[in-house]
Amino acid sequence: MKTIVNDKFSSRLVLFTVIFSVVLALTLTVINYFSQVNIYEQKELAKLQAISTTLSLNINGDELEGLIKRNPKKDAITRNDADSSYLLIHELIVKAAETNSLNTNMYTMMYDEHTDQFCFGVTSAEKPYWKHVYADYPQVLEDRYEFGGTVPPYSDENGVWLSAFYPIKNSKGQTISIIQADEQFTSFIMQARSAVFRNLLISFVVIGLIALVMIATVRSIAIKQEKLDQQMRNLEQMRKELIANVSHDLRTPLAYIQGYLETLLMKKDSLDEERFTKYLQTSLTGTERLKNLVDELFELSRIESGSRKLDLEPIRLGELVSDVVNPFRLEASEKNIELLIDISNDLAPVRADIALLDRVFQNLISNGLKYCESGDSITVSAQRDKATNGIYISVQDTGPGIAKENLPAIFDRFQRGDQLHKQGTGLGLAIVKSILDLHECSYGIESEEKKGTKFYFVLGAYDI
Ligand code: ADP
Repeated sequence: MKTIVNDKFSSRLVLFTVIFSVVLALTLTVINYFSQVNIYEQKELAKLQAISTTLSLNINGDELEGLIKRNPKKDAITRNDADSSYLLIHELIVKAAETNSLNTNMYTMMYDEHTDQFCFGVTSAEKPYWKHVYADYPQVLEDRYEFGGTVPPYSDENGVWLSAFYPIKNSKGQTISIIQADEQFTSFIMQARSAVFRNLLISFVVIGLIALVMIATVRSIAIKQEKLDQQMRNLEQMRKELIANVSHDLRTPLAYIQGYLETLLMKKDSLDEERFTKYLQTSLTGTERLKNLVDELFELSRIESGSRKLDLEPIRLGELVSDVVNPFRLEASEKNIELLIDISNDLAPVRADIALLDRVFQNLISNGLKYCESGDSITVSAQRDKATNGIYISVQDTGPGIAKENLPAIFDRFQRGDQLHKQGTGLGLAIVKSILDLHECSYGIESEEKKGTKFYFVLGAYDI
């Protein structure tokens, strides 16, 4: 539940971040677009202003005035060389247009106060357009006729235009015409727009990738968190089970020790010696059981808590196993169980912690002795494991075996299988498992009811 809530919260956070990034990218791109357009506009207008100013100063105002007076009618001039003044001014304008790589024609433009109209004058075009009316001229041309200026971007059927103009004056200082320089703005706007779309596309791809990475990270954190939560729940469950088991296993022997001791105290005078000894013996067995349980629990918690560090060294298995087996020989012969060791002398030493490995053999052999019947045998053997080049070790008996359904959990704490009639704590194999886990080695069990059991594990070889 907690993880689902976390997951939802994280997904919302990712979504919020993505939306925020998209809005930010959009805003920055739009700001960038307008500032680029503005910079370009300012730069181009300054250029057009410079062109029109320089050109107007180069045009002789008196000559233009004479030309206009000589040709008052529309289309009075139809060829560039029709009038020498026209040709002179035309060539000046053409040169200016070429030098500045203008993509449109330039015109001088005269204002007629009576008709309140602008008419075309000399042009850089191939063909004169003499005295044609300039319909829908921008108002600024009239307002700043005497001073020149710039025309804010305007559109017509040919696109968006930038334009600047400057007056051409005669020697008396009167404005005869203006010269206007235009430049098309459309291609720049298209370029800027496609740059904007490219930037937006890149931003969205980057944001998308970042979002994917974020989602994957959040997911994996949520999964890890879920695993941790599950581990915590398992630990909590194990802790509860452990306490329940331990208290049960402690309470049973404690109860009968207490019972026998109370009986002994109350009836000490009336009890015969045989009963007296039997009660004492039973109490002693109970305390031994308690001691075993406490010792094993202590051992297990020491290994599992990680406070027991491995002290790896080369160990000759033949020697170690006979040291472990010898003390069991008396019990084995009393029970008529054969104890065999099948370890070659020239087998390479294993790399292990000797005290812990000793404990593994103790637990497995004592289990064999505990569960086998008269006539059975227990064999400890070791040989080179071809697959891993380590040493394969097994403790195998011909005893009662373990029921199939008990096998999967047989290494768990307090798992006692169906051998409840034998005394035990259910911790022996859990200790074996913890020790083998600490050695990071592979291990397992093979068992068949009424046929026997084999515990095996593979340790690293210490090849000298
Ligand atoms: P216990 O103290 O009960 O022996 P262990 O953890 O050593 O605890 O073993 C767990 C259970 O596994 C035993 O109770 C028993 O049922 C089964 N078991 C262990 N070793 C053998 C064996 N060699 N043969 C048959 N059953 C065994």
